[in-house]
Amino acid sequence: MRKLIIAIDGPAGAGKSTVAKRLAKELGYTYMDTGAMYRAFAWRVMEERIDLGDEKELERILKETRIELMEDNGRLRVFLNGLDVTDQIRTPELSQMASKVSTLKMVRKRMVELQRAIGFQGGVVAEGRDIGTVVFPGADVKIYLDASPRERARRRFEELKGQGKEVILVETLKEMDERDRRDKGRAVAPLCKAEDAIVIDSTHFGVNGVVERIMKEIKNKMAIQ
Ligand code: C5P
Repeated sequence: MRKLIIAIDGPAGAGKSTVAKRLAKELGYTYMDTGAMYRAFAWRVMEERIDLGDEKELERILKETRIELMEDNGRLRVFLNGLDVTDQIRTPELSQMASKVSTLKMVRKRMVELQRAIGFQGGVVAEGRDIGTVVFPGADVKIYLDASPRERARRRFEELKGQGKEVILVETLKEMDERDRRDKGRAVAPLCKAEDAIVIDSTHFGVNGVVERIMKEIKNKMAIQ
């Protein structure tokens, strides 16, 4: 049977990662966290103190940036030129920087190339902001996962706290709001629902419910192949 491409888009904290990971596991597919790729690149930009207006420098590091996603005991590890940056890329500062670098056309172009190289043969659950609209517009199942801003901030807050980070709920809410606005308002590949995407609001819906709902769509798709 042909392996499918499942695209999950939506704002931060909507539950994309948790749901995409579960789906990939159930299907035996590759889980592709495209946000982690933008974060890894942003990490390098910060490390090297590169000015986002310096196109030459950005082009140089884009050319020599290798990003690999590897699964390790159910956890996704992110490598940048062989260096494990999994933990470093999850801070609020990196969230903001990822959102800034991802407004740049040349950065998106390179990331989309890398993402297509991973997923073109199918058998992938990819999550991000532009998967159903730009990266895989022909994806077999497209989901736009959303939740209320308050609930999304609460989830991100709990996640960060769980990692032992010091966070304040209102700060998380503000940080996410700023990022959402930038992601939705940018000129290149803004976050938006693909025309043929199914919208799921996870505000009052547990992970199991969302996974079940999407699995139903996937099974329908498989049945008509
Ligand atoms: O999903 P995550 O919160 O890790 O993504 C970090 C940032 O990377 C997002 O706020 C967004 O600006 C950017 N991103 C993107 N396109 C994607 C995935 C992430 O622009 N496909």
